Amino acid sequence: MEENNKESEQLFTIEPLVQKEEKPTATLTATPTRRFSSRSRRPSGQPQRPQTQPAESARRPESGQQPRRSPRPRNRYGAPRSRLAGERRLPPTQIHQGRIGTPEGVDMSKEDTLKIIPLGGLGEIGKNMYVVEYRDDIIVIDAGVMFPQDNMPGIDFVIPNTKYLEERKQNIRGLILTHGHFDHVGAVSYLQDKLGHPDIYTAELTKRFVEKRHVEFSHLPKLNFHVVKHGDKIKFGDYLEAEFFHMNHNIPDDLAVIITTPWGTFMHTADFKFDPNPMNDRPADLRRLKEFGDRGVDILMCESTDAEEEGHSLSEQTIFENMDKIFKDANGMILAGTFSTMINRMQQMVQLSEKYGRKVIFDGYSIKTNIEIAKEMGYIKLAKGTQIPMEQVDNYPRNRITVIATGALGQESSSLMRIINQDHRHLRVLKGDSVIFSSSVIPGNERSVQYLKDGLYRAGARVYHYQMMDIHAGGHAKKDDLRQILDLIRPKFLIPHHGHYSMMVTLGDLAVKEKGMPPENVIIADNGKIIHFTKDRWWFDKIQAPANYIMIDGLGIGDVGNVVMRDRQVLAEDGMFVIVALLDTRTGKVKGSPDIISRGFIYLKENKDMLMQVRRRVRAIIESKSMLPEANAAYLKDEIRNQIGLYLFQQTERRPMVLPVLIEV
Ligand SMILES: [Zn+2]
Repeated sequence: MEENNKESEQLFTIEPLVQKEEKPTATLTATPTRRFSSRSRRPSGQPQRPQTQPAESARRPESGQQPRRSPRPRNRYGAPRSRLAGERRLPPTQIHQGRIGTPEGVDMSKEDTLKIIPLGGLGEIGKNMYVVEYRDDIIVIDAGVMFPQDNMPGIDFVIPNTKYLEERKQNIRGLILTHGHFDHVGAVSYLQDKLGHPDIYTAELTKRFVEKRHVEFSHLPKLNFHVVKHGDKIKFGDYLEAEFFHMNHNIPDDLAVIITTPWGTFMHTADFKFDPNPMNDRPADLRRLKEFGDRGVDILMCESTDAEEEGHSLSEQTIFENMDKIFKDANGMILAGTFSTMINRMQQMVQLSEKYGRKVIFDGYSIKTNIEIAKEMGYIKLAKGTQIPMEQVDNYPRNRITVIATGALGQESSSLMRIINQDHRHLRVLKGDSVIFSSSVIPGNERSVQYLKDGLYRAGARVYHYQMMDIHAGGHAKKDDLRQILDLIRPKFLIPHHGHYSMMVTLGDLAVKEKGMPPENVIIADNGKIIHFTKDRWWFDKIQAPANYIMIDGLGIGDVGNVVMRDRQVLAEDGMFVIVALLDTRTGKVKGSPDIISRGFIYLKENKDMLMQVRRRVRAIIESKSMLPEANAAYLKDEIRNQIGLYLFQQTERRPMVLPVLIEV
């Protein structure tokens, strides 16, 4: 009997995938309610969320007839509340059965293996971070952010979990940054302290971008940079040596890394495409790449973002010609939404603006700072008088202006979004304007981007996006580029990275079917997997490094865990209910009538009776308990939260976040 009970209890428990320490999120003396989260933490006796309809929730399942699935939180319409990104469970991987744990005949106490550990960037686009470890030497490659998805309200960024590295930070010999895109460098400032302020090895432009961003973290010490360039070789610790190799991407100064280790050579491609006509740049040295292949590369970690795309990645020259057509046809203002690191795309727009007699305005803080850096380094070339400040926009006819702004992702506060929402101080979209989105939509952001697009069509603008014109035309290797790198390098093992699962598998398939790689030599991993290598074999460690999302909301790092996200969902779906009461600590009585503030829950004016009841109950709760020996502010607030929460649920079938504020006088 006992056994049975335990089992059914387990069925009902959804263990959060990630156990985050909980911190109160609200200010004042209030603490947010957590009990609505329908987690195992819920104190007994709390109401269950209604299952499909309120009427049905009264009908409990017969005993012994347990529902098979764990109850999922529901919103007020009875639909399942959207699952938080951090809670999503990945279905188990079938690809590498039998590859987990030390293989037979291997004695790990004697074995020295090379370890490759992806902490971010696998099965996703963003927050790239890869660890190369041999004995006491660790090299970290990239420290990027991921842009939040639609189900992460109020989150600015997601960064990798670096617990594995924090426990070994004395072994970190260096952090290598492949290029200046935020999904590769955006987390540097957030993580440098946790990683023990490692020396950073990167190219000049990347260094300047990261340095510029780091200025916002004035409380942190300076970053220790070592500028490296194509061909440089650097020894990291006793066992690892890295060589840097110039690749083409849609940002200058892109570096692949080739690391020699006691167990052979490891190569990380960075983001790349093969481009015979790059922008303000020289093509990658294919002869040298082939030399690496001839000498033997054992492990190739190759990007897979565009592995599902046929053909060759477009040359920057072709993209330029496509954009030329847009500029030629435009007879209103041209507004281009882009990332602040899309230096090549911005240079092309500058060049075309000059060709068609347009002035250029850069808008958005990050674009403006990055443009200054790129100008200094000669990656952005502007004729004198081309760039004008925003204040002068009205001094020229609309068809003589190009605005390059942030906001290709539909971010709420971006310059492009403000223009569309009519919140921008100087600019409006008018009929006849042309709007160019010069980057592809990052999956998860489709809805925001659709909103942005609709807003533009509503205003009568012509909209060009990457699918129509191939103006983003990734900086990423398509099938032909991937075939080419596999031919040049001919690796023994292949680890696809920088892609969703389907992309990684597609790259693996290509290597197996077309290039004759043995399928068991293609490693489709997940973030957190520790991959061991010896000369001829590889396996996953039984242990995994933590690799959950660490969310940043502009206030602090990692203090936005699932608890906070859940709070935000409750706020978004059922609103909040604040009760402010004055407690006379001498008499234990409530002074005056408690104040009630509610947002997004009910319309107060139409619910006067219920509010009277709430006030009466609050008073009764406080006055019956305030003189108890265990009574303190926290205890009283808990009582109010639980009892009023229950009462409101009974009255409305909704669960607002109840925030009691007790002021002792
Ligand atoms: Zn990139």
